[in-house]
Amino acid sequence: MKTRVIHIADPDKQEKEIMEAVELIRSGEVVAFPTETVYGLGANALDARAVNRIFQAKARPGDNPLIVHIHDLSQWNQLVLDIPQKALLLAERFWPGPLTMILNKSERVPLETTAGLHTVGVRMPSHPVALKLISLSGVPIAAPSANRSGRPSPTAAQHVLQDMDSRIPMILDGGRCDVGVESTVLDLTESVPVVLRPGGVTLEMLESVVGQVVVHPNVMKPLKQGQITRSPGMKYVHYAPKAPVTLIRGDLHKQVEFIDTEASRREKQGERPGILATNQTLACYQAGVRLSMGDRSRPAELAENLFARLREFDALDVDFILAEGVDDKGEGLAVMNRIARAAGFHIIDL
Ligand code: AMP
Ligand code: MG
Repeated sequence: MKTRVIHIADPDKQEKEIMEAVELIRSGEVVAFPTETVYGLGANALDARAVNRIFQAKARPGDNPLIVHIHDLSQWNQLVLDIPQKALLLAERFWPGPLTMILNKSERVPLETTAGLHTVGVRMPSHPVALKLISLSGVPIAAPSANRSGRPSPTAAQHVLQDMDSRIPMILDGGRCDVGVESTVLDLTESVPVVLRPGGVTLEMLESVVGQVVVHPNVMKPLKQGQITRSPGMKYVHYAPKAPVTLIRGDLHKQVEFIDTEASRREKQGERPGILATNQTLACYQAGVRLSMGDRSRPAELAENLFARLREFDALDVDFILAEGVDDKGEGLAVMNRIARAAGFHIIDL
């Protein structure tokens, strides 16, 4: 199958091009499309066969549920049994935007979409191409990130092509994604909401609307062998570049000293180190290939650049990657969660 890439600069003026993607969605095919978080791999969320095609294209484990994307609130009503007050307040404040809310699903949502769970994660993306695609399709669109399972999420159409060329019929190219990490996943099935995955809508932002919110303990800690989890995605290797990653945490001066020493030592032994740094520290290193995530005082900027940098290390053919830790406030928690998972929770605390 040949993968067509269609550039959409202005979705209002390019409805004809978007209609080609709509026809594919309506006929049960999958299409990659831009959202403000990362690129998604979409199919009709109400069609079990279409949804299975997403799992095939990604080689995604069958027990990892998909997020369903909607363009207006009436679609949400059809997907869930009941919408509690807290969920309504959050939707009012953060939709369209990078927040996925988990509620009990209605009969209309096939178990293929939720990977056998009786809950469903729903979000309304803000990217104009995504909204147009969903509204013209007339169906909610199930879409995980458009990477091969386990790889860093795609934040540009080119990244999708790297992973999905000849596996899907079409990619809508809407430019680079602003947020750069996937949506915040919030479980609202119990009275105190639980963050299962941190993202662009931060803990602080959620708490400002609904009061107490807790972060699931496995956001920064691996699951124990055999542990049952509310979020099946926590079980799997995620976001991993080809070279093994180690996350270094603690006092910044100690981090820099440790990374510099370790990279130099291993470079002398003939290895090619990769260092994932920040603007403030980039010039401190002598050894290896150094890339910056951005300004460490602006965590949203770090989030935006993280996955693209991990993919750059693949192209630069490094043997291992040492990643600096950042402050886990605001979007920093999402950045630390993604690096920790890219590292398979291989973390050194100084
Ligand atoms: P992806 O779309 O590939 O970025 O992954 C979606 C994430 O949302 C995964 O980590 C899932 O485990 C999580 N998720 C989606 N639906 C549910 C649900 N009903 N319950 C718990 N977690 C969910
Ligand atoms: Mg994903």
